[in-house]
Amino acid sequence: MKDSAALVLFSGGQDSTVCLGWALDNYERVETVGFYYGQRHSVEMEARIRVRAEIARRFPEWAARLGPDHVLDVASFGAIADTALTSEAEIVMLSSGLPSTFVPARNLVFFTYAAALGYRRGLHALVGGMCETDYSGYPDCRDATLRALEEAIRLGTEVPFSIETPLMRLTKADTWAFTEKLGGAAFVDLIVEETHTCYRGERGTRHDWGYGCGACPACELRAKGYTEWQTSRASEDRRKNTAM
Ligand code: ZN
Repeated sequence: MKDSAALVLFSGGQDSTVCLGWALDNYERVETVGFYYGQRHSVEMEARIRVRAEIARRFPEWAARLGPDHVLDVASFGAIADTALTSEAEIVMLSSGLPSTFVPARNLVFFTYAAALGYRRGLHALVGGMCETDYSGYPDCRDATLRALEEAIRLGTEVPFSIETPLMRLTKADTWAFTEKLGGAAFVDLIVEETHTCYRGERGTRHDWGYGCGACPACELRAKGYTEWQTSRASEDRRKNTAM
C-alpha cells in the first residue's frame, strides 16, 4: 500500500468499476469522482450511483472503506470537445485513425481536476481505468502520457501525487480475470448486471457480458473480452481435468 487514501475516476463503466474494486482492496480510504461533460446519455450517471450502492451492499469489507462520491461539472470542456459522445454525430472512424468518440485530451483534464479535488481531500493516489492494450489507441490513455502528467501534477502542486492505472497492461479478457481475482463471482456478476459501457446508452438487451446494443465499438470490445476470458477458462478447466 503506497498511500492509504485514493481517489478513483469513476464513470460507472466496466473498467472504472474494476479499478474501484482494486482501490478498495489496496487503500484504507477511497472516494470516487465523476465528470459531467454533456454526455449524450444519463444512463452513465445513473450507473455510477447503482454500482456504488451495490458494492456497498455486497462487499461489507469494501463498504467500510468507501467514502463520498463527487461529481464535477466540466460541461464547458464538453462544449469544446464536440464529438460523437457529446453530440448527435455518428460514431465513425476518422482519417486520423481514431474513432469519433475520442474527446481530445479528456484524461489530462480529468486527472487535473481529480488532483485539485484530491489535494483538498487528502487523497494522493489518483486511480483510472486507462489501458493501452486492446484499445482504440486514444493517445491520452497511454502510459507515457500519464507518467508525464503525474510529474506535471507533482511539480504543480508540490504534493507527491501518483497516478495508478491497474489495467494499463491488461487485455479486455485479462480485465475479466482480474475482476474475478479481486471479488470472485459476486464481483463479476456486479460488473455484468450494473455497469454501463455502451456508447449508445442502450440497456434493453442482456447479453452474457452485460447490457448494451452489442454493435458499437465499446460493446464489441466488452463482448470480445468476455468471450476470450470464458474460452481460456474452459481450456484451463480441461487441462486441470486431464492432469487429474
Ligand atoms: Zn453498444
